[in-house]
Amino acid sequence: MLKYHRLIIAFSLVFLALLAISPASEFIIWAVGLLIFIFISIIAIGAASMRYQIFVSAYTQAGIADKRIALTFDDGPGEKTTAVLALLQKYGAKATFFCIGKNAEKYPLVLKQIHEQGHIIGNHSYAHQHIFNLFGSQRMAREIDKTGTIIEKLIGAKPLLFRPPHGVTNPPTARAVRRLGLQVVGWSIRTYDTVRSVNETLIRKITAKIRPGSVILLHEHMESSEVLLEGILKFVAENDYACVGVDELFKIKAYAQA
Ligand SMILES: [Zn+2]
Repeated sequence: MLKYHRLIIAFSLVFLALLAISPASEFIIWAVGLLIFIFISIIAIGAASMRYQIFVSAYTQAGIADKRIALTFDDGPGEKTTAVLALLQKYGAKATFFCIGKNAEKYPLVLKQIHEQGHIIGNHSYAHQHIFNLFGSQRMAREIDKTGTIIEKLIGAKPLLFRPPHGVTNPPTARAVRRLGLQVVGWSIRTYDTVRSVNETLIRKITAKIRPGSVILLHEHMESSEVLLEGILKFVAENDYACVGVDELFKIKAYAQA
């Protein structure tokens, strides 16, 4: 049972207990109001962070002791992906790319290049709309599956790993991934590379958080993507870490059987 369902049961029980104790009083109005406020707060936090696994079971941090981590790149493929691939090759690192379907249609050769260089390709929706999380589960599933089919046509394998746009999950997301048989992958280290300017301080802040089993969220289309990546890869090399795909890190399957 998901935490979301357990939460609903727990809050319903508390609600009924309150009614039983004091069916009509000023206390009950305040208590129910507080209960609703706490419930909505938990739901909002759960929707924004996969770490709490409120709506879906998500892979965010591997419980391992050896020094392996996963670098993950969202929102590609794009014009800058090739430069990122060259850096990964230079440092002998493997990564996971959560690709947007319409970008895969625009840059099919780049998508193939990612696969040919031994990196993992995951699904990151078709168009990455801001309102993706307002869609019903059927529309979500359609968009996700459309991307899966586009990727399958290009690399001969359909991704089983999905990262929700903006990292937001809710009950429709849970239903969509269950229907498609996908696993959700989140992250344990957010770099904020789309909003912060990259400098030595930021790289130090990010690398200070790295530990065995970390999953780092990156984007390959930013102006400073290569600077940030090289900073992380240097730390990884100097500290004897290895960068592997999320499938290897969590021992999960990246693609459906052909
Ligand atoms: Zn994204």
